[in-house]
Amino acid sequence: IRSSGGNGIGLYDEAMGKAAAHYLSLSTDLKYAVQNNELRLHYQPKVEAATGRLVGMEALVRWMHPKRGMISPAEFIPIAEDTGLIVEIGRWVLHEACRQNAAWQRDGLRALRVAVNLSARQFRSTNLLSEIDAAIAQTGLPVNALELEITESMVMDDPDTLIELLNAIRQRGIYLALDDFGTGHSSLSYLKRFPIDCIKIDRAFIKDLPDNLDDVAIVKTIVAMAKALDMSTVAEGVETAEQLALLNTIDCDQIQGFFFSRPLAADDFLAFYRKHN
Ligand code: C2E
Ligand code: CA
Ligand code: CA
Ligand code: CA
Repeated sequence: IRSSGGNGIGLYDEAMGKAAAHYLSLSTDLKYAVQNNELRLHYQPKVEAATGRLVGMEALVRWMHPKRGMISPAEFIPIAEDTGLIVEIGRWVLHEACRQNAAWQRDGLRALRVAVNLSARQFRSTNLLSEIDAAIAQTGLPVNALELEITESMVMDDPDTLIELLNAIRQRGIYLALDDFGTGHSSLSYLKRFPIDCIKIDRAFIKDLPDNLDDVAIVKTIVAMAKALDMSTVAEGVETAEQLALLNTIDCDQIQGFFFSRPLAADDFLAFYRKHN
């Protein structure tokens, strides 16, 4: 990269160089993250809006880098997608989420559904279905205790193949949720064709509730539409009692967000369960 004017390397180039070096270094390290046991799952509680009852949790991956400390998925999942490492990482996440939830159920916790994020690239890998079957078979998790979260971006390239795959997943009794709803480009006609159990309303529409009346109208409409399509709704990123109260008046089914809990390491999640049960 050359700077546009002058003869030295500009600040811009230096920043670009640093970013590129950082990216390269992370992507090299990420190759060994799974085999070196550096990935962890945190679990964020999902509760019933009306009662506050714990109903499930979303598994969110973290990378414990030996030198850099904990790296957020927002930073390394894009790298994992670019490099194709997402397939191996995704397989680990799916297996670990199923293993942990099956272990909790064997320890006598009441049935909770664990939600696992799938990335677009992972969805295109042809053996996803057999990986799901393997995770279920190897861990013994009841299929109805697993939920998979997909995003609207996956709809874009080949909706028919996607719908076929989603149907196969759902026929097994696994739940499907549409994540980050409202931020993608999928049309309502797709939504109608999609075998989806649940819509997760993106935090972008929640954060200014209840003061922003446009957002109130949007969230109300999404909840009403979901009900008409026989889907349930989860509000993401709920941080305040006022947001929760508003969401209750419009009949949103479930709530996830810092108001109840941040994502928790497995031990802390167990403590949360015992306290709220
Ligand atoms: P997401 O699937 O939309 O997950 C929700 C994110 O919102 C999480 O960030 C969570 O910590 C954060 N969050 C939850 N409640 C609140 C709240 O009340 N306020 C605010 N400000 N934030 C809240 P996290 O854990 O950093 O994950 C970021 C993204 O990384 C996820 O967004 C998801 O797209 C991706 N990701 C995480 N784990 C995985 C994984 O195992 N596989 C794949 N493919 N992607 C993952
Ligand atoms: Ca998610
Ligand atoms: Ca989300
Ligand atoms: Ca998101």
